[in-house]
Amino acid sequence: MDAAAVDRPKLLCPVPGCFVRQEVDNISWVDMGSYLLVIDALERPELARDVLTAMESTAPGKPVHALINTHTHHDHVALNEVFRRRFGAQIVNAQTHVVPPAGLTWTEGARRLEVHAAPGCHTDEDLFVWLPTERLLFVGDIFGWGLIPWDHLLDRARFALIISTYCRLAELEPVVVVPGHGPLCTAAELRRWVEYITALLDEVRRLCHEDSAGRLLDAASLAPPEDMRHWWRFVKWKHADSVSKLVYAVTHGRL
Ligand SMILES: [Zn+2]
Repeated sequence: MDAAAVDRPKLLCPVPGCFVRQEVDNISWVDMGSYLLVIDALERPELARDVLTAMESTAPGKPVHALINTHTHHDHVALNEVFRRRFGAQIVNAQTHVVPPAGLTWTEGARRLEVHAAPGCHTDEDLFVWLPTERLLFVGDIFGWGLIPWDHLLDRARFALIISTYCRLAELEPVVVVPGHGPLCTAAELRRWVEYITALLDEVRRLCHEDSAGRLLDAASLAPPEDMRHWWRFVKWKHADSVSKLVYAVTHGRL
């Protein structure tokens, strides 16, 4: 496939009444019946008009009651002010709300949207959004198409937390998973990444034990497993980055 085609904005409707403007950065909205809920708010404020036009085309005249940021990195919050000013939308993220163990919920008719906390995979603020009836899951940057989501030093506790969070999300058995960036996927990709990163850690430990971590870092210049080579964007770089993070953690006795 033409790689650039994936990065042009597309308006997707993974289930009726739920929309994703998919690009490098994704913004989504859910039609609750009389109002909309928005998930994530992009990096570039100049996209406001495009986004509002797309929303109007899918749900004419419906106000936005709340905007949920899966976390508050700059590439997820640029339109917060636009929605707040235009609709008086409530801004919901880990800084503005304490998310109770049962989650925050919005319901109208048969539609139910839940926001749950799952901190520590990508940031200490990670939230995910779940529509249990439609089995639609929004994971923000917890899933990064092959990237280790935690961008700081890894240790045993962090690695275990990431794996258990992926398992928790996959066990919801979502039909569609919407990441913060790039194409949509399913629970299969969440499970595949757990297998991949676990096997890679085993390999790193084995080679570090044999004192051949250098050989592994050379191997990092290769692509990841065959079935992951079509994964979205910079797959080779992500693989090399994962190898070097794991080698660092293992050789420093952290993992
Ligand atoms: Zn992020």
